[in-house]
Amino acid sequence: MKFVARALCTSLSFFMAAIPCAFSQSGDLPAPMASNNAEAARLVNQCVQLLQQGKDKEMLETAQRAVDLAPDFAPAQAALGTALSKAGNNEEGKGHLERAVKADPSLKKAWLSLAASYTALGQLPEALQAYKTFLQKFPSDSNAALARSLAASLEKQINQVQAMGGGEDYFDQATNRKPARWPASKMPLSVFIADGSSVPGFRSDFSQMVRASLEEWASAADGKLSYKYVGSPSGADIVVNFTNNPGALHTVSEAGEARYTRVGDMLKKEEVYLLTIPVGGASQLSDDAFKMLSLHEMGHALGLIGHSPYPDDIMYFSFAASNKQSLTTRDTQTIKRLYADTVKPSLAQLNADGVKELNAGHAEKSLEIFSRAHEYYPGDDIVVKNLASAYNNVGIIALHKNDFDKAITLFQQSLDLKPQDNKVSQNLGVAFMNKGIIGQQKGDNNTALANYAKAVEVFDRIKDNASVARAVKTYADLLRRTGKGKEAQSLEAKYKVSR
Ligand SMILES: [Zn+2]
Repeated sequence: MKFVARALCTSLSFFMAAIPCAFSQSGDLPAPMASNNAEAARLVNQCVQLLQQGKDKEMLETAQRAVDLAPDFAPAQAALGTALSKAGNNEEGKGHLERAVKADPSLKKAWLSLAASYTALGQLPEALQAYKTFLQKFPSDSNAALARSLAASLEKQINQVQAMGGGEDYFDQATNRKPARWPASKMPLSVFIADGSSVPGFRSDFSQMVRASLEEWASAADGKLSYKYVGSPSGADIVVNFTNNPGALHTVSEAGEARYTRVGDMLKKEEVYLLTIPVGGASQLSDDAFKMLSLHEMGHALGLIGHSPYPDDIMYFSFAASNKQSLTTRDTQTIKRLYADTVKPSLAQLNADGVKELNAGHAEKSLEIFSRAHEYYPGDDIVVKNLASAYNNVGIIALHKNDFDKAITLFQQSLDLKPQDNKVSQNLGVAFMNKGIIGQQKGDNNTALANYAKAVEVFDRIKDNASVARAVKTYADLLRRTGKGKEAQSLEAKYKVSR
């Protein structure tokens, strides 16, 4: 006999509409087959129609299918990027649009969508650059006049910002208004710096310069960041790679890139690529140029995922014609603010992120997010409810894997938050019962008896009489087999269960 868990998936309180599943940041996807491209092209055409009909949700789903089918097919990336941006998810949309125009710079509309996404994210210099590229490539396009006027107004805004000498920091631009950082519990961060000695252009002092960059950011962050350098990339938080292939990067202008994975407001993994050769003309990469690149990419890796609008800053998006050697006051203020104790993501954002992970089938991730939300907003009822559900969901997964101790702990954590949830109590009873049954099968009668007792107690507390009866029978049966007939009898009497 085996007890089966109930409440396979309890519904979470929806605070905000769910967002579609995030696009994987990983770059090494298999090349699609030609037939996939044909089907993806058909889906992209469908997207164009859906866009015209104002069916945004359907367009997003269709574009996602096209990208799943043919991730290297530029029009599919462009469609998904446009759909995401239209749905207000500019950050992810931007990534797909960058990928699209890199793979196929002749995609006119993608340049315009990309410029619009940058603008929405407050990345004005990048937006301007995208409009300029569009105008250079398609000067007589029907949208050229509009692009020209948008570019002119951006230029004006950028000049204004720069004329003011800049604000104290560029927090909004650097975080795309959705901060992500390494949590304090992750310190020291494990950093793996690859051996680049086989990469042309690599110099042995590069690794040391990367470490120095990380240290410079750490002292700017008031000691909130610390590192340990590890000898293997597996499991490292930050992995630094060297490459001499500009084509491997999403945007060549940066000479490097940092690909991040985040869960809610937490960074989970950063994969950094540093170019060992100069871009544009110069024959050798100078120390200064590499130092600047390394500081910039480490800034990304530590959570400054966007760029500064001020050309003086290390986190400005382009290195063109600049010679920066250390963090500016604004760079320092920005990282300080990101790691300040007062920074917390909005409640709505945390709830949306948690629900998103749950809908994507990532129960553990949603638990992480709701745990974090509870740290930030301990008194919020919806967070308490969502966290209790998340504990229960992950508990059920553990139960199905026969990891009873973990399941029991999780159900108890859920009940600590929401003691009245009888479904969770039922699951707890089932976990005790199954732990007992497996123990008995292994000949561990003591474990079996102890857990049967707990199961009976839990089922009785919630007045689940049917489960009480079944549990008491199993319990009494083992008591008799182990020579405790009297105890079995009084147990049956207490719970009014006949043999
Ligand atoms: Zn950058």
